[in-house]
Amino acid sequence: MRGNLYIVSAPSGSGKTTLLGQLISKFDDLIFSVSYTTRRPRGSERDGVEYFFVGRDAFLDMVQRGDFIEWAEVYGHLYGTSREFVEENLEAGRNVILDIDVQGMKRVQEQAPDAVKVFVLPPSYEELERRLKQRRLEDDETIRMRLAIAKTEIERYRDYDYIVVNDTIEESARVLESVIRAGAARPANQEARIGEIIASFGGVDC
Ligand code: 5GP
Repeated sequence: MRGNLYIVSAPSGSGKTTLLGQLISKFDDLIFSVSYTTRRPRGSERDGVEYFFVGRDAFLDMVQRGDFIEWAEVYGHLYGTSREFVEENLEAGRNVILDIDVQGMKRVQEQAPDAVKVFVLPPSYEELERRLKQRRLEDDETIRMRLAIAKTEIERYRDYDYIVVNDTIEESARVLESVIRAGAARPANQEARIGEIIASFGGVDC
């Protein structure tokens, strides 16, 4: 059975990375797609864990080869999702979660209309600003830019299936967990099992 594709978008600093870490730890068959980016590692980030950090030329070569399902420029850097990683894991029956921006969501949706889309909203502008400053990973100019972009991003919330307001990580993780479990309950994800049950009733006449 092919796995489900989940797209999670959120303004930078909304607590999404911690949230996704908690979520992944709750499911054996849920896997995070590590994107490629041309931005530099931040804080304790490691190559191959949060991102694959590559130079601009290497990234553009990958674009030319069609290695990305989608790619976009976000906050002045390039980010892309590996086609091979996503395809192989979905084929193997694993659920794959993409942490991508609104532009990337649109591109993936064109190719995978069944993808479940979740937007993580910070509780308020002030709280997002506080979280961005608190993590002390960027200079004031970068923080200003991220806040300005967040304003335009959150207006796109209607393009998503679910909205998670990230008041606390624990509660948001619970909501996201329900979304994943609901995805697994869709008929398309239970065809084999449903077929066995129907067969046990002697089949259906419709
Ligand atoms: P950050 O630099 O804060 O880790 O991420 C910046 C933004 O880039 C976030 O909104 C994140 O969702 C987005 N992003 C990360 N990876 C990808 C990707 O592969 N494709 C796209 N389109 N956006 C990405």
